[in-house]
Amino acid sequence: MASVHLHGVSKVFGQNLVLRDINLSIEDREFMVLVGPSGCGKSTLLRLIAGLETVTDGAIYLDNRQIDRLPPKARDIAMVFQSYALYPHMSVYDNIAFGLRRQQKQKFGIFSSLAAQRKLKHSIDRQVQQVATSLQIEPLLDRKPKELSGGQKQRVALGRAIARNPQVFLMDEPLSNLDAQLRSDTRSQIVQLQRQLQTTTIYVTHDQTEAMTMGTRITVLKDGIIQQVDTPLNLYRQPANQFVAGFIGSPSMNFLPVTLDADGYLQSEFLTQSIELPTQLRQNIPSHHPLTLGIRPEHLKPADPDAAHICAVIDLVEALGAETNIIASLNGHPIQARVSADLDFTIDSKVYLALDLAKLYLFDRSTGNSIGHPSMFPEWSGSQES
Ligand code: ADP
Ligand code: MG
Repeated sequence: MASVHLHGVSKVFGQNLVLRDINLSIEDREFMVLVGPSGCGKSTLLRLIAGLETVTDGAIYLDNRQIDRLPPKARDIAMVFQSYALYPHMSVYDNIAFGLRRQQKQKFGIFSSLAAQRKLKHSIDRQVQQVATSLQIEPLLDRKPKELSGGQKQRVALGRAIARNPQVFLMDEPLSNLDAQLRSDTRSQIVQLQRQLQTTTIYVTHDQTEAMTMGTRITVLKDGIIQQVDTPLNLYRQPANQFVAGFIGSPSMNFLPVTLDADGYLQSEFLTQSIELPTQLRQNIPSHHPLTLGIRPEHLKPADPDAAHICAVIDLVEALGAETNIIASLNGHPIQARVSADLDFTIDSKVYLALDLAKLYLFDRSTGNSIGHPSMFPEWSGSQES
């Protein structure tokens, strides 16, 4: 087990700056999720840590040991890929045992005595059985990869990584090839396994649900730049900018262009009534400064026309059973609300929605940076205490 530290890590491919000045510490035993849209540099970052690519700039440490110039084998890190990368001609048993045999050869040499070799074989056997039991793949040990389903292959790939008992696990979208049910089962299995083994883990995904449910902390990456590092709930409650706000949470946060008038009210062609901003917040914002108002779908509620802030035309109704998603348009601007399943809605009809004023987010429209969120401004949440 170990902590991982990245100091000013950059990576350039040709003319393309893929990772920019990455500073990140993953604590010993932590489950860190690295999330971001496709192409933002997640795999590249893992491959740099694993040693499959070399850093252009900066340094990577495992505890106090600088590893960025070491060959992959010397780093004591195991990586699990989306594509499984099993050896096709080997049985499941041999796939799991392969790394162990190599480790032992490195440690003891090939020319050990017969008795010593028997002992090693026995110890490898025990480790393979142990891993197979914990992943429930014992009945598969004699099979070849082509005789396995996707979910089984992925468990074998995990088993191979676990058996080596590395200091760090790196997982690159290991669940993307699985169907929804299997994905959610394997997701909880990986989390439980990590909790048991306590091995420091960096897990890459583009799926915000996986990120929210698996990580003790999440790093959000966009265009090779870290946007925010925090716990899942802190990212949801206090996004640093509009990108994180839109990326974390499902369905995504709604955004509306607004401006602050001289009297301290948010005005917008999209709102049927203006919203008074708390004094505290107003002081930092010049009037008529372009802002973006953020409101999550779960914080919009159907209301009487008098009490509503928004009047939109319903485009789509998704009844999910436990709740209903309404997708509507507001002067051509899309807006989503997640409402009670007990209510009925008709496509092409009007819906009046009230914003929960205790749950508003505000962003600088030009930089995208957060200016206000509920926890920052207790007054906004209707509470007089601070
Ligand atoms: P992600 O895993 O987040 O989808 P990647 O790390 O795979 O993103 O890729 C980030 C960017 O780096 C992409 O624009 C990709 O085309 C580029 N890239 C990745 N690997 C290489 C490579 N070996 N050579 C050149 N460009 C690469
Ligand atoms: Mg990738």
